[in-house]
Amino acid sequence: MSDAILVINAGSSSIKFSLFLERGDALDLLLGGQLEGLYTTPRFKAKGATGAIIGEKEWPQGQAFGHDGGIAYLADFLREQLGEHRLAAVGHRVVHGGLDYAAPVRLTAGIVDQLEQLVPLAPLHQPHNLTPIRLLLANRPELPQVACFDTAFHRAQPAVAQAFALPSAMTDRGVRRYGFHGLSYEYIASALPQHDPSAAKGRTVVLHLGNGASMCAIQSGKSVASTMGFTAVDGLPMGTRCGNLDPGVILYMMDELKMDTRAIEKLIYQQSGLLGVSGISSDMRTLLDSTDPKAKFAVDLFVYRVARELGSLAAAMNGVDALVFTAGIGEHSAPIRERVCRAAAWLGVELDSTANAAGGPRISTASSRIPAWVIPTNEELMIARHTRHILGSIRSR
Ligand code: ADP
Repeated sequence: MSDAILVINAGSSSIKFSLFLERGDALDLLLGGQLEGLYTTPRFKAKGATGAIIGEKEWPQGQAFGHDGGIAYLADFLREQLGEHRLAAVGHRVVHGGLDYAAPVRLTAGIVDQLEQLVPLAPLHQPHNLTPIRLLLANRPELPQVACFDTAFHRAQPAVAQAFALPSAMTDRGVRRYGFHGLSYEYIASALPQHDPSAAKGRTVVLHLGNGASMCAIQSGKSVASTMGFTAVDGLPMGTRCGNLDPGVILYMMDELKMDTRAIEKLIYQQSGLLGVSGISSDMRTLLDSTDPKAKFAVDLFVYRVARELGSLAAAMNGVDALVFTAGIGEHSAPIRERVCRAAAWLGVELDSTANAAGGPRISTASSRIPAWVIPTNEELMIARHTRHILGSIRSR
């Protein structure tokens, strides 16, 4: 019998989950999966550690349920799967920790109230992250719950990296660069020493290129700069988000095009990026397979923006000792990695095409001045580790 840690990542219409077993120092994945289509047509799928499907179910529209129904279904499923194992704690991904949370924290009703105050800073994510926490606090008050923040890793950045050049009163009320994907970067920082110990002590640019995409400059294991700012729409172009945008464009949309806040939000979050530029798809695979010039232009723009941000992040560290590719595109798309590495030749990156086609882990030649790596991210494991750490301090009380 082992203690188990449940990891939950709740979005607006989905709940992703992973269950880890504590085995000595190790955390072994027992199963993982997701409930998608909440409130419309819920679909459930769970896979065991080897990838075999261990649970699958779909509900018709008339039987739709929301987060509470989803958590209840999940609780029944997990109870069955746990067997003799004991659920010891739940770790949650929470997008925003604001200025106060630079590390994971054990959740209480008071802390959830504080995190609720941050909803205006991440209206599309924060409320959904908090919903299952409140439900579990009400139904299982004895079960330790831990919040792990996407912003926390970046709180180590120097003040100049965190500030906008706005009047200080704005900065003081929290309008500043927070950065996201922190759990992914923290995981990569923890895995890099096994691949490249000297780069782990030095300066690395990590490229988290997924549907959501950002890049982070990491020096001696700490975040020093990142491409995402106040919200997760900043920085690189993404699947459907525009990334970096002159704020004057927003004013133009409001004044000249008479677009309201919701219309602009929809445009920059859901209709831009790879999808908006190509008019075809938000999926990099579809664009790479297409012969349409607009698909090609969307990919060109993506690579161009990644290459420019690379220069910016290298400048923030006075140089760079390694590149790490991760997330959906970073882990699986050899053509995009190849194009980014070629655009980084001026920094001293020399691609090994065979190694790149094979998926790495090292994709640069032996003589490359700067090594380039592919390291799969594992945000769930990072959350489980943090949760176990906090559980350890609860147990030793
Ligand atoms: P999320 O930000 O939603 O977690 P992921 O990190 O899972 O996203 O990345 C999903 C994206 O990765 C997909 O939209 C797709 O564009 C891209 N992707 C996955 N596999 C490949 C591949 N083999 N080639 C190119 N792109 C890929």
